[in-house]
Amino acid sequence: MRLLREVLRDWEAVIGLEVHTELTTLKTKMFCDCRLSHDDPPNSNVCPVCLGMPGALPVPNEKAIEYIVMAGLATDCQIQRRSLFYRKHYFYPDMSKNFQTTQGPVAFCMHGHLDLEVTGEGATERPDFTVEKDPDGGYMASIRILRIHMEEDAAKMVHVGGSEGRIASATESLIDYNRCGTPLIELVTQPDLRTPEEARVFMERLRQTFLTLGISDCSLESGSMRCDGNVSIRRRGARGLGTKTEMKNINSFKSLHDALAYEICRQAEVLEAGGVVRQETRHWEPSKRRTVVMRVKETADDYRMYPDPDLAPFCLSDDFVARCRARVPELPLEKRDRFVVAYALKRADAAQLAADPRVASFFEEAACAVAKEHVPMVANVIINLLSATKAVTSAQVASLATLLATDAITFMQAREVLELVDGTGDDPQRLVDERGMRQSTDTEALAATVDEVLARCVDQVRQYREGNKKVIGYLVGQCMRTSRGTGNPKLFNTILCERLAQEG
Ligand code: ADP
Ligand code: MG
Ligand code: ZN
Repeated sequence: MRLLREVLRDWEAVIGLEVHTELTTLKTKMFCDCRLSHDDPPNSNVCPVCLGMPGALPVPNEKAIEYIVMAGLATDCQIQRRSLFYRKHYFYPDMSKNFQTTQGPVAFCMHGHLDLEVTGEGATERPDFTVEKDPDGGYMASIRILRIHMEEDAAKMVHVGGSEGRIASATESLIDYNRCGTPLIELVTQPDLRTPEEARVFMERLRQTFLTLGISDCSLESGSMRCDGNVSIRRRGARGLGTKTEMKNINSFKSLHDALAYEICRQAEVLEAGGVVRQETRHWEPSKRRTVVMRVKETADDYRMYPDPDLAPFCLSDDFVARCRARVPELPLEKRDRFVVAYALKRADAAQLAADPRVASFFEEAACAVAKEHVPMVANVIINLLSATKAVTSAQVASLATLLATDAITFMQAREVLELVDGTGDDPQRLVDERGMRQSTDTEALAATVDEVLARCVDQVRQYREGNKKVIGYLVGQCMRTSRGTGNPKLFNTILCERLAQEG
């Protein structure tokens, strides 16, 4: 098959996403007070309501309605003051009521949008994209959201003995009703996305937004956030929509990107060979990196939807919506912009810190504890030196950043300090004092190291003199290593340049 980038020069991709998010941070299910937990033994959190016993009556979870309204407000949706729950009928063992309670034509949230910024390599998937248009090497897109509605999740089924968990070849199927009745919000976008990268960034932005709202743990891996990708293609310049296929089983951002990319290329191949794209649901097989047909859609499914007589219409008061609005915290893009202005951070750094609410508040805690001009160093330390496995406090990061910003220690020494204080709570400043760790700015000693390195690295010296100035980076690295990370890299650089100019 052809490469995506080539295909996208002739064809325009049209992508719409349907995203299901379980409201995992709630304590109880959508219509009953069963505990919401996927870790308990199978079928332990169940009751007549979520098992669909005849006569059991649902009671809506108010907190879940609050969460979906918050999600709608965060994506600029119009909050519908009156909406209904519907019954969507189908027969499948994962929903023993034989219908799913969901919403009809009017959802709690309608007509919003989510703005994204596509940067870096991924931006070049758009053939009309040129780097010159934007100094940061990216472009903005606003993706319309058709609706966000409230529904309930089905039970979890495990198909044993099949390949890649597919039912067709399974010998046995197990059902866990703990998940049945989990509050679930479904967000449907308009077909506004144009590249797999845009779809990936959309999902990332949505995940960051929901994480910031605190309404879900948003794990694609564990399935608390699930995404179906709909895609069709059309000739560049054409207006109508082509026939779409729908991709399921997407459990990572990368899978979403790769499944869409595969599908765009596959559809182009079919159409270029004079064939037609069939409307079908396809399954992404990560191990084989391809999509395969799951089922063909010949007619629209008939779910016999009608308003649920057991649930009265919802009328949201101004007061309730105002309360929800007050609970929407600062969102990632707002946070990024504030970080840039308040702390003089680079936009990319600010975006990285603002993306995860826990990282963002850790950063701000540390930022409070250092002099204003040293805050960018705090960002630097968090982004470049910390990893998820490190158990360090914001106070330790603040202390380390100050040591670095004042040139007391080098980055290599900072790495060492970090290893030593990891999990101990010790103050980096004290540790550095105790051990007499200092960045060396003694030019005579540094010059001796430089001479030693130059004598050893004859090849690189020759390359430098032949015009390859980039090897200076390698030479500075050698000096750092020889000085066991204690030498000031800027001084090494200066001395190296002087020496190399002299004898050249
Ligand atoms: P279905 O009835 O098959 O579920 P919907 O009209 O509900 O289809 O749309 C589902 C998703 O597919 C939405 O995100 C929508 O934006 C997207 N979509 C609809 N038509 C197309 C198309 N021709 N090409 C790509 N995406 C589409
Ligand atoms: Mg649909
Ligand atoms: Zn229950």
